[in-house]
Amino acid sequence: MELKIIGYWGGDPGVDGASSTYVISKNDFHLVVDIGSGGLCKLQKYVNVTDIDAVILSHYHADHVADVGVLQQALLVQSFLTESVTTVPIYAHKENDVAFHQLTDDFTESVAYVPENTLKIGPFFIRFLRTKHSVPCFGMRITDGNSTIVYTADSAYQDEWIKFSKDADLLLAESNFYKGQDAAKAGHMTSEEVGIIAKNADVKEVILTHLPHFGEHAQLVKETKEVFTGPVTLAKEGLTWSKL
Ligand code: ZN
Repeated sequence: MELKIIGYWGGDPGVDGASSTYVISKNDFHLVVDIGSGGLCKLQKYVNVTDIDAVILSHYHADHVADVGVLQQALLVQSFLTESVTTVPIYAHKENDVAFHQLTDDFTESVAYVPENTLKIGPFFIRFLRTKHSVPCFGMRITDGNSTIVYTADSAYQDEWIKFSKDADLLLAESNFYKGQDAAKAGHMTSEEVGIIAKNADVKEVILTHLPHFGEHAQLVKETKEVFTGPVTLAKEGLTWSKL
């Protein structure tokens, strides 16, 4: 399967950027994981709107869901232009009833995932971990049977990440703060805490994402590498990770 980074900023998209938006693909099946502000704009460089097969959301903060409405509009416009527009399921938790029901529109349909159960979407199997965040949020362990990606979504550090991430091929981890900062207070993690998870879970590789709008991002990599000896990369738009 292949992961493409579309948006990697935490909070807001910055100038000409996008916040949390990712696409995981296999055999032309495209699963969009979170779709934050600016996400649909950048996404269309790589995937046509009408080629999106499903969307899954970790939580309802705007930097992860802002472009749901934009996607709904885009599909509606496409439906006037082509007959090939089909309804796109948007998988999300149901702990915010109002937000959940807003996911249903002319060409999108809200589908609740049950965090305790494994979810199958196309070629992917997804397990969930409740994160430590200011609102209900779920990290995901996504596998196609051959390789595994763990996505932390938004979370403060918790030991549960180590078991959940065990032996993953890729840990796509939020690092919204630098080593030594009080990230937990904000419901986020530091670069060092990502390193602790990666090391103890024996993951193969780390991509740092949900990056802060301050400091030098290269410092985040350095701090993660002080703990974890495997490859550590900064998320950037268009970055592709794949494993067959
Ligand atoms: Zn959040």
